[in-house]
Amino acid sequence: ADGARVPVLVIGTGYGGSVAALRLAQAGVDVHMVEMGMAWDTPGSDGKIFCNTREPDYRSYWLRTRTKAPLNYFLGFPIDRDIPRHTGILDAEEFGGITVYQGRGVGGGSLVNGGMAVTPRRENFGAVLPSVNADEMYGVYYPRANAELGVGVIDPAWFDSTACYQYARVGRKHAQRSGFPFVFVPDVYDWNYMKQEAAGTVPKSALAGEILYGNNHGKKSLQQTYLARARATGRVAISSLHRVTSVTPAAGGAYTVVIEQINTTGDVTAVKNVTADRVFFAAGSVGTSKLLVKLKATGALPGLNGEIGRGWGDNGNVMCGRANHMWDPTGALQSSIPCCGIDNWAAGGAFAEVAPLPTGIETYASFYLSITNNPNRAQFSWNAAAGKVELNWQAAWKQASITMAKTIFDKINSKEGTIYRTDLFGVYKIWGDHLTYHPLGGAVLNKATDNYGRLTAYPGLYVIDGALIPGNTTVNPFVTITALAERNIEKIIATDL
Ligand code: FAD
Repeated sequence: ADGARVPVLVIGTGYGGSVAALRLAQAGVDVHMVEMGMAWDTPGSDGKIFCNTREPDYRSYWLRTRTKAPLNYFLGFPIDRDIPRHTGILDAEEFGGITVYQGRGVGGGSLVNGGMAVTPRRENFGAVLPSVNADEMYGVYYPRANAELGVGVIDPAWFDSTACYQYARVGRKHAQRSGFPFVFVPDVYDWNYMKQEAAGTVPKSALAGEILYGNNHGKKSLQQTYLARARATGRVAISSLHRVTSVTPAAGGAYTVVIEQINTTGDVTAVKNVTADRVFFAAGSVGTSKLLVKLKATGALPGLNGEIGRGWGDNGNVMCGRANHMWDPTGALQSSIPCCGIDNWAAGGAFAEVAPLPTGIETYASFYLSITNNPNRAQFSWNAAAGKVELNWQAAWKQASITMAKTIFDKINSKEGTIYRTDLFGVYKIWGDHLTYHPLGGAVLNKATDNYGRLTAYPGLYVIDGALIPGNTTVNPFVTITALAERNIEKIIATDL
């Protein structure tokens, strides 16, 4: 409520925020979490909390009047449709050179993501977070994160037999015939639930095309893991449809946090001032960066250092499809949860997830989301005239990712005698190079903050989300975000409280 005072305020309810809330609450600290998105705990008139990818409705997008599907064409035709403006679950946030997809709601990105829970190969870790002790991460914090998130791997025997991974078996065959290492990728989806979906004994989610706009069953989002445990302590309160707009020093070493309450069409209905002894920025790479850059530039937190807003990367995301021969159908039924990838990181700088195309019809297409070692880094800056934060990512910077992804797919195409699909991202457009699912950086560890996420100019202010990671994790990022948050909060609880 307006005028309240709290020991700890956490901005955002994604991975970083959820780890902080759980561990602080377990240490006996009362925590208030503020989330701009909805709670996503109430079914709509169809009895479902989330809509599926084939019938996006008001629940799908964050304050848009038209969908902006990542895969925006099919057979050369645009597939976007009009929707009512609503505080939907997926934000397609547009900057000059890139569209950044993010989850909005209690659970952050865990609500919309594929659940692929990948720990980087240890030999690559030094390049991801050079100032962090790898022994500690691989000995303690990665195992802790994986256990809390409920990470598991598909049963290989079931993989070999189920219709819903025909597309992935085609992906494996083509990878192996070209000599690439094929790997199963862990996920937080409940694999036993998926088996029951395939058997027809439970309501379908992964097998009903649910993913980008939420999963009604089977996926262990943060709502089922960290946030459930945090709530069970009785010390964590969450305010949804509340957006933090300012944090400024207050008397006695505390901070005044300004919070706008919004309704489901995005209008501000109230403005509240809360005093917090400590504030954790966990609004995601983009959300945290936007807040800190604005607060530094507008004089609210002028002492933040010059690294704020820098070191932002897209995790090298680039998408493409391949057109298979008629003897390699990928299946009309495709599980929306990816379970495998092609690892060409060491040789070609690309790790490609074999992704579903859950259209419900046979497409003869293989679809991939590649994570590449794209070296480009962008910077957020405050545009005073426009009153907003901008990002200077250049569309042409994706060429580096395309070149790396081609080390895999040019070879496969040549071996199989196949070609790229040109109908998934436009008319005669091969590469989905206009977007990222994996924003990282903007308040980089040991640069914008100290080596544990402290904004040292302001005791009691911390960054604890993907903004800490300098642009790339070599694989899908949320396990690393979670493990780093576990490491940092343990240190902060031990030394700062
Ligand atoms: P987030 O999870 O983004 O959480 C930040 C939260 O803060 C959000 O809920 C946001 O609404 C809220 N917020 C922002 N600003 C404010 C504000 N001012 N006030 C209040 N609240 C605010 N990663 C993987 O590892 N595996 C995958 O399979 C995978 N698939 C993905 C698929 C899609 C479609 C997308 C979009 C992402 C995917 N990701 C995946 C990425 C992963 O979800 C993110 O890396 C992760 O969620 C980032 O965690 P975070 O804690 O940094 O922030």
